[in-house]
Amino acid sequence: AYSRVLEIHEQHLSPVPTAYFPTPLLLSQGHMEWLFDYEGNRYLDFFSGIVTVSVGHCHPKVNAAAQKQIGRLWHTSTVFFHPPIHEYAEKLSALLPEPLKVIFLVNSGSEANDLAMLMARAHSNNTDIISFRGAYHGCSPYTLGLTNVGLFKMELPSGMGCQSTMCPDVFRGPWGGSHCRDSPVQTIRKCSCAPGCCQAKDQYIEQFKDTLSTSVAKSIAGFFAEPIQGVNGVVQYPKGFLKEAFELVRERGGVCIADEVQTGFGRLGSHFWGFQTHDVLPDIVTMAKGIGNGFPMAAVVTTPEIAKSLARRLHHFNTFGGNPMACAIGSAVIEVIKEENLQENSQEVGTYMLLKFAKLRDEFEIIGDVRGKGLMVGIEMVKDKASHQPLPCEEVNQIHQDCKCMGLLIGRGGIFSQTFRIAPSMCITKPEVDFAVEVFRSALIQHME
Ligand code: PMP
Repeated sequence: AYSRVLEIHEQHLSPVPTAYFPTPLLLSQGHMEWLFDYEGNRYLDFFSGIVTVSVGHCHPKVNAAAQKQIGRLWHTSTVFFHPPIHEYAEKLSALLPEPLKVIFLVNSGSEANDLAMLMARAHSNNTDIISFRGAYHGCSPYTLGLTNVGLFKMELPSGMGCQSTMCPDVFRGPWGGSHCRDSPVQTIRKCSCAPGCCQAKDQYIEQFKDTLSTSVAKSIAGFFAEPIQGVNGVVQYPKGFLKEAFELVRERGGVCIADEVQTGFGRLGSHFWGFQTHDVLPDIVTMAKGIGNGFPMAAVVTTPEIAKSLARRLHHFNTFGGNPMACAIGSAVIEVIKEENLQENSQEVGTYMLLKFAKLRDEFEIIGDVRGKGLMVGIEMVKDKASHQPLPCEEVNQIHQDCKCMGLLIGRGGIFSQTFRIAPSMCITKPEVDFAVEVFRSALIQHME
């Protein structure tokens, strides 16, 4: 059956990025943190889709909310009113600090960042947008100009995407970690193990200032940052860096955008939003993935002033955005996170997990770094600790594959796809972490033999 599925996929569907997801499984069911294939094998989904299934596959409360709504009303576009959207707007806005209180509902992270870019330009009257090296903000033509990591970095012919006049002068800032081929600074990998241990902040701030003074970034409209870079392999900034960068952008009239697509909704444990871990207040926050536990849904939240600036230039309308199904599901997700204390669980189990994987780092020469926060952890695979060269992709693939055969699904990231990414549903338990660590350890032992 699998070969037939592969045949259909090759003929009719877009290819899977196999460097990140070698040999995709044929799945039949999901229950909370577990997935099942058609042969009855079960897998611990330690990547929760792609950092998406925030509260667990087919969570009973989320399912019940969806079932209740599906029999009442599925669809209206954003031009009609319905109770689920107002209930949701109140719930979501209560989770954000003043003055971030105006919500635009869309359908994907890329769409949310597209809209944030338009808002930044409409509000600032400037055009240039800055993102970091190693950033992932989406794969729409607009956001591709912001994305700059590994296989997802696309060199578009002129006239396409962000090289076009529609979207001029997207500039890539200095951040890159060790994972960027074109990073001007290679020393950062030594500093990415924990926020705060890095001495390099001032050096990055100087580079950031250079970026801001270059011709392309002189009229800065907006600055995008993921609170922790996800696709780039869980890369963290030096402590205090983002706060200073925000100030520099604002001094020049730009607005600051936190892309919380991966880091939001309690995943980082200590705070509900990633930007709070940097002690900054963005002007625009974008969110997707975990917001709907896997149901297509995304949002942009901003200030009344910025919302007004957009409205002066554009009548924002979205056919599917804020549909009753998405809103009912989104409300249930927020309730589950609160009722089941999932943010607290992210903190507790995340800390436990980071320590467990840090022990493995001490045990194995091919683990170059273990880093992250809450339930967002990266394990960077290297040839050896001294050289810190990435472990060749085929070897990482083999370890990845062996984990899968033993019932553990994990993600990949980084420019060479050399970093394993771990981001389970927030209902994950310590015994499940123990299982995952043991499987990962066995896969590494198998690799060393
Ligand atoms: N921003 C970030 C930080 C992401 O990780 C992603 C998806 N990996 C996106 C935006 C784009 O989201 P989507 O795939 O829903 O368009």
